[in-house]
Amino acid sequence: MSDKTNLARRNFLTKLPVAAATAAVAPGVVLQSTNVTAAPRSEAVSSSVRWGMLVDANKCADGCSACVDACNKENGLDIHSAPDGADAVKWDQQKPTWMRTVKLKDISSGRVTNLPMMCQHCEHPPCADVCPTGASFRRDDGVVLVDRHICIGCRYCMMACPYKARSFIHENVDIKPTLAPRGKGCVESCTFCVHRLDNGQTTTACQDACAKEGHHAIVFGDLNDPNSAVAKALKSYPNQQVRDDLKLNPGVHYSGI
Ligand code: SF4
Ligand code: SF4
Repeated sequence: MSDKTNLARRNFLTKLPVAAATAAVAPGVVLQSTNVTAAPRSEAVSSSVRWGMLVDANKCADGCSACVDACNKENGLDIHSAPDGADAVKWDQQKPTWMRTVKLKDISSGRVTNLPMMCQHCEHPPCADVCPTGASFRRDDGVVLVDRHICIGCRYCMMACPYKARSFIHENVDIKPTLAPRGKGCVESCTFCVHRLDNGQTTTACQDACAKEGHHAIVFGDLNDPNSAVAKALKSYPNQQVRDDLKLNPGVHYSGI
């Protein structure tokens, strides 16, 4: 595949169109419109912005799955159900998951902490380093994505990711959101709700859901803007990146862990 073709496809991914309705695109395949109301971006993606997140584990409630549920709904993962005859346990283990909750226990104190875990949007993403086709890539604004047009499903990126952030789609996906298209044989992971960012919105679905529950554990925004809520929060509270020893400089930070 030529560099020119790659670039054209990536430009397509960075300028996802807003669809207004549900549409059948092929026999048995239905695109479901996503509720994005703001205007599409007019300027190119630039490194002047770096999207990032701070998760306060102290505010993350035990047993709450609002962020995970919202992510699944936003990106159409909830539409995807076990195929007929599938083993329920295997399906549960293998079904695509962009965000999961992790429980940490401090062995000495016994303190238990809950936190959501998803793609950390690394500045130096090993998933992109190992990808043989260039399907895994990092945008200039720090969002790490998979170009589904050139993903060959080798899953090297899944093995390279130290955060177990990626999933593989084993089954046919007959219904998919227009702004988060998905397909069998491709790898996928959290996109920082890039369809929202590219259409003028500045919050993610998990962040909104967490706030709606009254927990406000997730702050999202531009790490490069000193006046953004996330930059101010990072400056105000002790925080860390998970496995910072790997020097990948993730865009996701945690406090209270
Ligand atoms: Fe890639 Fe994993 Fe880092 Fe996300 S968390 S950018 S999938 S290595
Ligand atoms: Fe899911 Fe969007 Fe949150 Fe990523 S930012 S975990 S895609 S809801």
